[in-house]
Amino acid sequence: MTGDVPAAGSSVYAEIDLAAIRSNTRLLMERAAPAQLMAVVKADAYSHGATQIAPVLEQEGVAAFAVARPTEGVELREAGITTRILVLGAPLPGDLPVCAHHDLDVTVSSLEVAERVRDYARVQPLRVHLKVDTGMSRLGVSPEDVSDVYRTLQKERRVTVGGVWTHFATADAPGHPLTATQRERFDALRRELDLPLSFHTDNTGALLTGDGTLPSPEGPASQTYPSYVRTGIAVYGLAPTSELSSGEVASKLRPALALRARVTHLHTIDAGTSVSYGATWTADRPTRIATLGAGYADGYPRLGSGSARVRIGDELRPVVGTICMDMCMVDLGPPDSPLARRVEVGNAATLFGPDGPTIYDVARWARTIPYEICCGLSRRVPRIYTDGEDSEDEANR
Ligand SMILES: *Cc1c(COP(=O)(O)O)cnc(C)c1O
Repeated sequence: MTGDVPAAGSSVYAEIDLAAIRSNTRLLMERAAPAQLMAVVKADAYSHGATQIAPVLEQEGVAAFAVARPTEGVELREAGITTRILVLGAPLPGDLPVCAHHDLDVTVSSLEVAERVRDYARVQPLRVHLKVDTGMSRLGVSPEDVSDVYRTLQKERRVTVGGVWTHFATADAPGHPLTATQRERFDALRRELDLPLSFHTDNTGALLTGDGTLPSPEGPASQTYPSYVRTGIAVYGLAPTSELSSGEVASKLRPALALRARVTHLHTIDAGTSVSYGATWTADRPTRIATLGAGYADGYPRLGSGSARVRIGDELRPVVGTICMDMCMVDLGPPDSPLARRVEVGNAATLFGPDGPTIYDVARWARTIPYEICCGLSRRVPRIYTDGEDSEDEANR
């Protein structure tokens, strides 16, 4: 749909800086070493475009990819990605043939899944990672049942167990006791199993805080230690929270995504005139209003109404009234102000970007997390890929 429209002429567009992705990946590989990077590219690489981002990451030498669902893995295979891909979600019965056919690693999340995997592997070999629930209570085998599940998988020669993993519930909160509890449970399990498998735990939060780091093991598990860190959001240049973004490593990350919208209409309203649905904002003086061609259907959250700001003509200005589906309105100040006189139809405003406001700001205004702002970017927003050099100019346009 958007393919026919020149993105640069669109009323809203996302700029994605591939040089930032490369720089983040190098930084994270260094930070994770000797563990390897499993780059999480689920949800279309957090809206950055999985088939555009994965080849860049593959070039940088990431060891593996992770996706949430088999269809996301198939999309990467069809785009020519040959690196290992782990599907993080629990497989439904129909997913096993898809995973086998496209060489996607299956998450074994219960004894039933293990039995299905064992049976299906008689038809076609499968590679799996065993997921252990150490405290997130979302997916996975409880630690007491892991040996049983592992034995079930071992009954079929054509099942390869590539790893055992768990996921932290509180990794973005430094020093949270649950992270320590989960790490200890997982470490105890690793000692009990005593097998040469990849045991992996860390997401971005755990990598940044170091709270999840397992002690180095002895015996067979030492052969595959350390294994992977599963980093998603940091690849795209963000920390899980704005609090973590000022840390030593996180402050070197470069946000890759910017969302810009163009002024599609300008008008001046009198004092006492309200703006947008619900008439929730009223001008208290003659005001120049810029209407931008971006709204909540593009992923600019309606919950930001009343607090959001945008960068326009190099000033931060408030979004006034309710954010609509396809538009939002910006207060440019009195009609004779320098800004109001400068802004023209077609000018671009920054809704978020490295030059600010940041994705953390938008998330705060909308009372959510940076992840949801990224993932909420909708399909109708054209993506423009840049490779670093020209991104400054783009930002100041
Ligand atoms: C999404 C996800 C990750 C990546 O999380 P980030 O916080 O983006 O690094 C890692 N592991 C699992 C199981 C996930 O679902």
